[in-house]
Amino acid sequence: MAKKKPYDCSKCPGYCCSYHIIPVTEKDLKRLADHFGLSVEAAKKKFVTKGRPEDKKDGPYKIRRKADEHFGKICRFFDQENRRCGVYTARMTICRTYPSGRCGYYEFLKIERATQDDKDLVAGTWND
Ligand code: SF4
Ligand code: SF4
Repeated sequence: MAKKKPYDCSKCPGYCCSYHIIPVTEKDLKRLADHFGLSVEAAKKKFVTKGRPEDKKDGPYKIRRKADEHFGKICRFFDQENRRCGVYTARMTICRTYPSGRCGYYEFLKIERATQDDKDLVAGTWND
C-alpha cells in the first residue's frame, strides 16, 4: 500500500504556486504549447520569461505570474477560484516532484487553522 503523504494539497490554498521562480524546462514548454494548441515560440512569449542563470539546472525559463489576493503574486496558470493548478496535466516538471518530503507551509497551515479554529483559513506569509 502506498504511504500516505504528510500533506494534502487539496486542502491547501496553493502556497508553493506563489514561489517567485517556477522553473520551466524546454520539455515543459513543449507540453504547454501542445496543451494550448500553440507553437513553442508563441507559448514562450505568452507564458514564460528568461530564468536566472543560477536556476538553469531546473530550466532555462520561469513562469510569468499574476496578482493574487492571498500571496501577492502567483503562477499565471493557477486557478484562483478553486485554489488549485489550472493546467494539471501540463504542469511543470518541478510541480510534479515538489515537495520531496514534508511540506513546511502545510505544517504551518495546519497549526494556524487549529489555533484559529478556522478550517478554511489561508495562513499569510511574507511572500510577495
Ligand atoms: S504548499 Fe505544500 S500542501 Fe500546499 S499545494 Fe504546495 S505542496 Fe501542496
Ligand atoms: S503549473 Fe500548476 S502546479 Fe505548477 S506552479 Fe503553476 S499552478 Fe502551480
